[in-house]
Amino acid sequence: MWTCPHCGGTRGFFFSDENLQGMLCLAPDCGRFDATAVLPAHEASGDAPLPPQ
Ligand SMILES: [Zn+2]
Repeated sequence: MWTCPHCGGTRGFFFSDENLQGMLCLAPDCGRFDATAVLPAHEASGDAPLPPQ
């Protein structure tokens, strides 16, 4: 489980694009970005499917 290095919260949103990846903390009084987070293993195999349009 991911833990925010700033506030210790465990609720985060994984964000990635071609330049940046990491977890965005969802704690309302934090909201910081942890660029050291890695993609969860179950999402790292193959390309993630895109959500339906
Ligand atoms: Zn946080």
